[in-house]
Amino acid sequence: MGTARLGTTRQDIERAAELLRQGELVAFPTETVYGLGAHAMDAAAVDKIFQAKGRPADNPLIVHIAHRVQLADLADNLPPVAEKLIESFWPGPLTLVLPRQPGVPDRVTAGLSTVAVRMPNHPVALSLLQTAGVPVAAPSANRSGRPSPTAAVHVLEDLDGKITAVVDGGTTGVGVESTVLDVTVDPPMILRPGGVTKEMLRQVIGPLQEDLSLKRNSGEEMDPALAPAANGRIATAPRSPGMKYTHYAPRGEMWIVEGPVDKQVELIQTLVDKSTAEGTRTGVLTTDEHQAAYRADAVLSCGKREALETVAAGLYGVLRRFDELGVERIYAESFPEAGIGAAIMNRLRKAAGYRVIR
Ligand code: AMP
Ligand code: MG
Repeated sequence: MGTARLGTTRQDIERAAELLRQGELVAFPTETVYGLGAHAMDAAAVDKIFQAKGRPADNPLIVHIAHRVQLADLADNLPPVAEKLIESFWPGPLTLVLPRQPGVPDRVTAGLSTVAVRMPNHPVALSLLQTAGVPVAAPSANRSGRPSPTAAVHVLEDLDGKITAVVDGGTTGVGVESTVLDVTVDPPMILRPGGVTKEMLRQVIGPLQEDLSLKRNSGEEMDPALAPAANGRIATAPRSPGMKYTHYAPRGEMWIVEGPVDKQVELIQTLVDKSTAEGTRTGVLTTDEHQAAYRADAVLSCGKREALETVAAGLYGVLRRFDELGVERIYAESFPEAGIGAAIMNRLRKAAGYRVIR
């Protein structure tokens, strides 16, 4: 069965909304990445998400809503800090982990006592959610482990024939997933850095904690999913179940090079030359500023280092492009971790399976 390609006319949105209400899977654009939507209160529909993506069942989903009032069916006992955050950042790329209502299917929350909810800031997403009139569970619309889709064509690369429809609303803006913030603990804890930065959150609610498993990302440490032998040696279980899986990964083996930028460029070229001499098809992940400085099989720019939001927007598209070009090894520049840089480095490290060279 083919996947219907829908546009964003009123008729298309009504068709997509009807499919969602009937329990079908529909991918749609949000301001972060494309989401793979299913009626969140329909357990059988939600189950199809896990099948289509090949997503592990213990990785819970984010529920998307268009109106504040929809929260009442999903979450209970909102802490005061949640109200402040909703006021400041919704609609927008901030997911709140809240105490759940019993009516939310276990499939959505992976049996946790909490539910993750957000209101996306994208006209097509909001209009689809409003028209459907039901909360929509939607992880990123990629096969599990692959880079998230920032265009409808990426969704089809991974899921054509496996989902009922995709609404093509052009390329997404932010380019990395939402920030996930657990407000059931005090102070609130960042489980995943994203479009709403820690600096922005601190301005509104003051102190924050960061999930320790986010810090488990330096040195030569391997992602547990890549190094099963390391299982049991990871002291801190991730609070956000999704964080324990390898994500966003291109097919080539990626290494992140850290250090002062000019030294990065030098070192990367040395590494590329070595790897090319060994007969390995080698790529460089860089920005406009340094693109001309490299000689490699593929030198791809994500955006401008001067404007890190452009790097976030371009990142996943570039990771997919390396795959198309058959690149076997990738050396990536690294970025300062302030602002959106924290989300960029989090995704890069995961995509690289925490392979870092200094
Ligand atoms: P994705 O839908 O692929 O963008 O991933 C959703 C992220 O939100 C994953 O990292 C999940 O582990 C996380 N998440 C969803 N629900 C919860 C929850 N109730 N508690 C903690 N993390 C959650
Ligand atoms: Mg995802």
